[in-house]
Amino acid sequence: MTVDTKKSKLIMAVVKILSVYFQVKHLETKYVTSATNSVVLAGQSLRIVMIGKTGVGKSALGNTILGRVAFESRPTANSVTNTCQKESINDGRDIYVIDTPDILDTSKTSESIKTEIVKCIQISSPGPHVFLLVMQVGRFTIEEQIAVKALQEFFGEEASNFMIVVFTHGDALRDQTIEDYVRAGHSELHRVVQSCGSRYTVFNNNDAKNRDQVKNLILMIDKLVVANGGGYFTQEMFEEAERKIQQQKHARELAERQTYDSSFYDILHQKIVVFQQTLMQDSTQNDLHPTQNDLDPIQNDLDPTQNDLDPIQ
Ligand code: GDP
Ligand code: MG
Repeated sequence: MTVDTKKSKLIMAVVKILSVYFQVKHLETKYVTSATNSVVLAGQSLRIVMIGKTGVGKSALGNTILGRVAFESRPTANSVTNTCQKESINDGRDIYVIDTPDILDTSKTSESIKTEIVKCIQISSPGPHVFLLVMQVGRFTIEEQIAVKALQEFFGEEASNFMIVVFTHGDALRDQTIEDYVRAGHSELHRVVQSCGSRYTVFNNNDAKNRDQVKNLILMIDKLVVANGGGYFTQEMFEEAERKIQQQKHARELAERQTYDSSFYDILHQKIVVFQQTLMQDSTQNDLHPTQNDLDPIQNDLDPTQNDLDPIQ
């Protein structure tokens, strides 16, 4: 190798090092490290919407994320969350957590479900950065499976790109890891997790002081936001809701709570009818798997003989 080639190689290497240095510098100014230690886009707010069946621990999860008791959470078969609720914390940026009421209750009229969904759309406008599909460790009965399927169908395939499965009752895992739990789960659980891009995490809401679980989740959400090009989930319904809110002269919070006439009401109504039909479907008519009963769910769920051992990809 001639001296000239050596020199030019050295210069190239220096240029490369300098360019990486400036790229990192540029990122440092664009990103900040929040108290939860996650690298976030400076000043960018985050809207998190929690969905799932009543009793799985959505409100408790919301409280753990916020680090305070903002949502009412208690052991009851009936939902204590009657309407959607938005709470926030400021952790270097505004993090909004939106808790949703039970839209899976088959005894509810489509009209009352529509009213609630419209409210949820408005308060998470212009659209959620992430849907947390909340499920409970050890509980995945046919009813749960149908509920999760109906929710995924309702929000559409596109929404799956914005979903993370959050398992609550991490304390029930005892020595098992969540990865092992999912791996040993049956195929419908695999399908749900895979349809959410294999993004899942676990929370023990009885250990709300454990901030690592929150850090992990926020980091996962940040990665998702970046993967989605910094965007949030939006649909025609969200777009129209946002336009209506923007047109108001009121403060944003008030505007989000108004009732508007909307062209998407008819479409929404049709979607809700299909949604309710899915929920009412006879479980024997679909390919969902009979799984553990509710009495000793964790025991059964961990018994590999009761589960389909299809490895999760
Ligand atoms: P929601 O209906 O989905 O909002 O569920 P809630 O937040 O009201 O929770 C239902 C019950 O589950 C409450 O008694 C919670 O204390 C309990 N719970 C929620 N998360 C956990 C958890 O991680 N571990 C345990 N042991 N209990 C939990
Ligand atoms: Mg609740």
